[in-house]
Amino acid sequence: MRRAIFPGSFDPLTNGHLDIIRRSCPLFDEIVIAVLNNPDKNPLFTVEERCSMLEEILPTLGIEGCRLVVDSFSGLTAEFARERGATAIVRGIRAVSDYEYELRMALMNRKLEPSIETVFLMAGEEYSYVSSTLMKQVFELGGRVEGLIPPLVEARMREKLAEN
Ligand code: ADP
Repeated sequence: MRRAIFPGSFDPLTNGHLDIIRRSCPLFDEIVIAVLNNPDKNPLFTVEERCSMLEEILPTLGIEGCRLVVDSFSGLTAEFARERGATAIVRGIRAVSDYEYELRMALMNRKLEPSIETVFLMAGEEYSYVSSTLMKQVFELGGRVEGLIPPLVEARMREKLAEN
């Protein structure tokens, strides 16, 4: 049983995240999409809202042969991975700018849990400029983010914007 975790804020989920999930599926039997509970970062969506969007969207991807599980966590990623019996942490790399931070995190996680490897997957070119932060900024200013985030996420963002 090859189990990995794919940790992140997913605030909100973008097509870039889904691209990484699709790419990692042939490599593992199970992937736990691990939503970081980060209230101090003042997220747009609560961790429950982020998890529920993932739970609605993942089955629509039509992925076979890899079980996708949604969970949330707080604290150390490496510890969560160990608790879940994962042997790998999946992360996406978009550009050189991601590399330095990801390298530090991967080395720290290896120090904490030497048996767990971080596996980096390169973003699809079409999503290499997509980040949750940029999506929020553009959306809040009325720009079009069609094709870059799932339609369900776009609808929930519109609702959030109307609430605030
Ligand atoms: P974090 O706050 O942990 O970086 P994110 O939700 O921003 O959480 O990202 C989670 C993971 O998804 C990270 O490994 C990030 O590099 C990757 N990721 C985010 N956007 C993209 C994208 N457009 N293409 C590929 N990977 C991405």
